[in-house]
Amino acid sequence: MSRLTVVVPAYNEAAVLPSFHARLSRVLDELLLSCDVLYVDDGSTDATWQLINTLAAGDARIGAIKLSRNFGKEAALTAGLDHVDADAAIVIDADLQDPPELIPSLVERWREGFDVVYATRNTRQGETGLKRFTSALFYRSMERVSDIQVPRDTGDFRLLSRRALDALRQLRERQRFMKGLFTWIGYRQTAVHYLREPRQGGATKWNYWRLLQLAIEGFTSFSTAPLRLATWTGVLASLLAFLFGLWVFGKALLFGDPVRGYPSLMVVILFMGGVQLLALGVIGEYLGRNYAESKQRPLYFIEERHNAHPKP
Ligand code: UDP
Ligand code: MG
Repeated sequence: MSRLTVVVPAYNEAAVLPSFHARLSRVLDELLLSCDVLYVDDGSTDATWQLINTLAAGDARIGAIKLSRNFGKEAALTAGLDHVDADAAIVIDADLQDPPELIPSLVERWREGFDVVYATRNTRQGETGLKRFTSALFYRSMERVSDIQVPRDTGDFRLLSRRALDALRQLRERQRFMKGLFTWIGYRQTAVHYLREPRQGGATKWNYWRLLQLAIEGFTSFSTAPLRLATWTGVLASLLAFLFGLWVFGKALLFGDPVRGYPSLMVVILFMGGVQLLALGVIGEYLGRNYAESKQRPLYFIEERHNAHPKP
């Protein structure tokens, strides 16, 4: 019988974890697969780890990993996926925004031969207009500038086949924009649609600041277009400055220039300064990423584990 592992990253999810696990178990019991669940506690400060332990104590199919601190969702996911030994893995959020009831449909597509089956939401209930607008903006510009197509309205909720998993595992970069990485590996990918519910208890760990950082992560991990943007802004600015210079020079030759010229000087200085800072900032983004990668640090550390073994 094929085996399936469900990987669940959890950071301060004590409020929803029991009901999540109940719903997940109900779904898994119905599946004609041998299923296990792997919880990754991403350095929670509430009772999440104790809860996971209680669950794991009563059920041999539950594995648990506790990271040594909060490494962020992408690292928690990676830690989980590194411990999967099954024929397929499913990644799902603990907050019940990804309905476990969708798992049978994901599995069905996998049986049809797909390697990556991602869940795409049809509505974004419980999200503000601004959040919708900014995420639409993100997906649209991402599609424009990068060579990969990140599927719209798709979170990390998805199924990965054995070979997709093995491929993903080879990507050890530190700047982990998971949605991009999932797409980047290729193979046969397909979507399953569902209605996304609002979070059931607890609070989202994503504020606009973190979302913005995620977006920058996405852009810079999968596109060098911003670097080119800096180049083109620079070219355009120099060209304009050159034309303006000609005009100022010609005007001075023809009419002379008694002390005026202060405004034009200021305009040129400010403009050029701005363009240079912009270009420097963009280069700095990439340089910083390069620096982080070159340190070659491990992606996470594990403090405790139960019933979970790293896959060789
Ligand atoms: N999560 C995590 N580490 C973090 C932040 C979040 O493991 O630093 C987990 C969290 O427990 C949840 C999932 O990632 O299971 C999604 O988090 P959240 O609901 O905050 O994100 P959103 O649904 O708003 O995208
Ligand atoms: Mg959520």
